[in-house]
Amino acid sequence: MIDIKRKEDCCGCNACGDVCPKGCITFKIDNEGFWYPEVDMDTCIDCHLCEKVCPILQPADKVERYDEPRVFAAYSKDDSIRTDSTSGGIHSMLANAMYAKNAYVGGAVYNEDHTVSQIVDANPQRLEEIRSSKYLQSNAEGVYKEIKKLLRVGKEVFFCGCPCQVQALYKVLGNKEYDNLTTCDFICRGVNSPKVFIKYMDMLERQFGAKATKIKFKAKEWGWHNFSMRVNFANGQEYCKDRYHDLFFIGYLQANLLTRPSCYECHFKGFPQKADITLADFLI
Ligand SMILES: Cc1cc2nc3c(=O)[nH]c(=O)nc-3n(C[C@H](O)[C@H](O)[C@H](O)COP(=O)(O)OP(=O)(O)OC[C@H]3O[C@@H](n4cnc5c(N)ncnc54)[C@H](O)[C@@H]3O)c2cc1C
Ligand code: SF4
Ligand code: SF4
Ligand code: SF4
Repeated sequence: MIDIKRKEDCCGCNACGDVCPKGCITFKIDNEGFWYPEVDMDTCIDCHLCEKVCPILQPADKVERYDEPRVFAAYSKDDSIRTDSTSGGIHSMLANAMYAKNAYVGGAVYNEDHTVSQIVDANPQRLEEIRSSKYLQSNAEGVYKEIKKLLRVGKEVFFCGCPCQVQALYKVLGNKEYDNLTTCDFICRGVNSPKVFIKYMDMLERQFGAKATKIKFKAKEWGWHNFSMRVNFANGQEYCKDRYHDLFFIGYLQANLLTRPSCYECHFKGFPQKADITLADFLI
């Protein structure tokens, strides 16, 4: 069974929890705010499924992709989608094309408590929540199992997540390619501590005296290159600071303090990526 000796050797993808036939894996949060699997030895039957599915122990090597990527530069011509997206809004354009085929779209959404989870849903109304980067780790518990079920009954699925989550999905699917699955990831600088983000949001909510209602990393108020953190509050107030003055961005991009240990030794970077499509910022 899974036994994490070095924190760098677990990216927190949650795949092991999704495949355990006895439900004996739970995810425990450490002092930095990152979750790691813990096995209940009383119920574990030593079937090794959790090890087989772990994308760090055994990468999704059987999923074949181009050695060299085919590269396109593009952006959405829909101003409202592009402005609300982290980069050029291509993800939303792809998602809209998939909803039009009645597909299920998977991505990351904020929860009430300012944590982030991966979901999969066929309702296009959820695209606004799914859209845009949340620079903290998203909890993917249950989503791989759900996607497997959808694929098996013939539903079309478009799943977007971190490269490690996409590999985890292929591992849960037994490295099997489904014609009704399209995957998408992004060039990934690493995910930050959900605990630090909750504390940061607590601080802002105390300062502004109200609950946050909308959070936008890399808001484009002062241009895309100057990306800013914008938070709107229930009392109508707004917080907006650029990457050089916002505490969370300083901790992430300047001080490099908030990222998960496994991201500093990422196993999922470089080519070939396993996702069908890899999105990234295109700087000119
Ligand atoms: C943690 C993180 C690090 C990144 N690092 C880089 C980088 O170093 N260089 C670079 O060029 N681009 C990076 N990106 C990608 C970039 O921010 C844009 O998301 C990407 O270019 C697509 O932009 P878009 O406008 O098409 O779509 P967007 O509207 O940004 O949507 C992208 C998709 O990513 C999903 N997503 C958002 N946050 C998470 C999360 N925490 N976990 C899993 N899925 C998530 C969304 O749900 C959506 O499906 C990063 C993204 C994230 C989430
Ligand atoms: S070995 Fe099998 S039963 Fe034990 S934790 Fe892993 S998946 Fe669960
Ligand atoms: S499957 Fe994912 S969460 Fe489980 S041990 Fe491996 S990397 Fe960690
Ligand atoms: S940097 Fe690597 S390990 Fe970290 S979230 Fe991104 S893909 Fe996963």
